[in-house]
Amino acid sequence: MRPAQALIDLEALRGNYRLARQLGGGKALAVIKADAYGHGAVACARALEAEADGFGVACIEEALELRQAGIRKPVVLLEGFFDAAELALIVEHDLWTAAASPWQVEALAAFSTDARLQVWLKLDSGMHRLGLSVDEFRAAHARLSALPHIAPMVLMSHMARADELDSPRTLEQLQTFNRAIDGLPGETSLCNSPALLGWPQVRSDWVRPGLMLYGADPLYPQPSAHAARLRPVMTLQSRVIAVREIGVGEPLGYGARFVAQRPTRVGVVAMGYADGYPQFAPNGTPVQIDGVPGQLIGRVSMDMLTIDLTDHPQAGLGSIVQLWGTSPTISELAPRCNTSAYRLPCSLKRTPRIYLSQ
Ligand SMILES: *Cc1c(COP(=O)(O)O)cnc(C)c1O
Repeated sequence: MRPAQALIDLEALRGNYRLARQLGGGKALAVIKADAYGHGAVACARALEAEADGFGVACIEEALELRQAGIRKPVVLLEGFFDAAELALIVEHDLWTAAASPWQVEALAAFSTDARLQVWLKLDSGMHRLGLSVDEFRAAHARLSALPHIAPMVLMSHMARADELDSPRTLEQLQTFNRAIDGLPGETSLCNSPALLGWPQVRSDWVRPGLMLYGADPLYPQPSAHAARLRPVMTLQSRVIAVREIGVGEPLGYGARFVAQRPTRVGVVAMGYADGYPQFAPNGTPVQIDGVPGQLIGRVSMDMLTIDLTDHPQAGLGSIVQLWGTSPTISELAPRCNTSAYRLPCSLKRTPRIYLSQ
């Protein structure tokens, strides 16, 4: 059997969730959109269901997958619905929905039901992607609050630059939010992972941790005492399946991106970009070889990559190679590969996920 595996530590996931809720001081919506950032939404929801206050997903398809798997906790559609026809399903499956555009507010107002819809009304406080302007927000709040089929709403917004600790933008967005909600009843929801970890001034009744649940540090490389308490959830690993020696001046792999400057012992690892490992990881990208720091050399292929075993005489056929996890972390790896910690686990494909500590 191909030795590539993504180990998913569900106990670490629960620990990270507890940290997020503790930092937030209120309720925490575990954001498990995009198949829980590649970790498996149903498995992660099951692992968290006993303690999570609710789950955040991107769309109704993701929400229905959770309901079909028997998840009963609140599930919020963070982008709302894409079509008013989804409202019947939202009621049937007892989902909560964001309302982030004027047409969604219209559709909610026009919808007729005996149920009470749980709506998260979204303000554009400066990100300028989704959300209502301050005036639209206040008008929508007045209009929807007056309707019997709309339950008391959660007032939400999203931060664009909370991962930049020296940017004034986060506090500007906070001010805009506070101005927009002034005097309005309702719980608030503002904090994503970087806001939770880096901005104690920004708090809300509901926080919405995503990346940090999976143990990655969105503030990296800025130092953060809280982020140091996160535990990586996914370990991507495989094994050395072939070993060879190449002489000085000999090229390695496609395009001869690596040329040996010394007699070099090369290990071939069953892991490639078709598994989600970054294709353009440069020579020298850190890996761990049987628990010891080592380096990638040569271009990453679809199904394989190569590492330098010259300084690892004990390592050989069958050695375990960690591509990401505790070391390197995805936060360390991402900038070296011109990608982001968000994207690395989301890219996981083909490699089976093995769940530890259900
Ligand atoms: C994805 C998402 C989050 C989670 O963001 P992280 O940076 O991963 O913590 C929170 N809120 C909304 C609206 C989102 O779409």
